[in-house]
Amino acid sequence: MVRASLDAAADRTAVPIAVAHDALVLLVGPSGSGKSTFAAGYFPPEAVLSSDAFRSRLAGDPADQSATDEAFSALHAAAEVRLGQGLLTVVDATNLRFEARDPLMAMAWRHGRPAAAIIFMLPLQQCLDRNDARPGRRIPARAVRAQYALLRRVVAEVVNEGFSAVYQLRSVAAIESASVRIDAP
Ligand code: GDP
Ligand code: MG
Repeated sequence: MVRASLDAAADRTAVPIAVAHDALVLLVGPSGSGKSTFAAGYFPPEAVLSSDAFRSRLAGDPADQSATDEAFSALHAAAEVRLGQGLLTVVDATNLRFEARDPLMAMAWRHGRPAAAIIFMLPLQQCLDRNDARPGRRIPARAVRAQYALLRRVVAEVVNEGFSAVYQLRSVAAIESASVRIDAP
């Protein structure tokens, strides 16, 4: 398994992220850690399945938590189809709980696809500030704190979950210097 910690502040040589063209990629991080921005910058839009986008589609509001079950059912259905067809599938959701990752990992395994995790580990204050500052979707600060508590345990957990690669982005500099290569068939 590839394990890379892309802490560009400490180490100027950024390790490139490489994912297979048919992989499942889980973005993992609290709200405000930059997952959606990263996804938009590095992955083709059709590959990105965002829980907020599915909430928007189904309830008209990306923050409507009452639409969560339906949003994830629809997201899982889309992931199932894409992975079945061997298409890159990037899941843009917090993915902080084992229960969130497990069905997606099982799906990748069923279809014989590799899985990678990209973990967004910015300092808590930065996530809180960004969550505050952003124009659309905001969640309560206590929810960001609760997510952050899960984040601290997540690295130890994901290394035992069958990912072929786990990448940690530990600073804004690391995120900005990261490069993503999608390996052709
Ligand atoms: P998510 O909740 O993890 O998907 O985080 P977002 O990608 O939505 O980012 C949260 C906020 O932080 C947004 O207002 C972004 O514009 C901002 N943001 C995300 N990435 C960066 C970055 O690399 N630099 C700066 N300055 N702001 C960012
Ligand atoms: Mg987002």
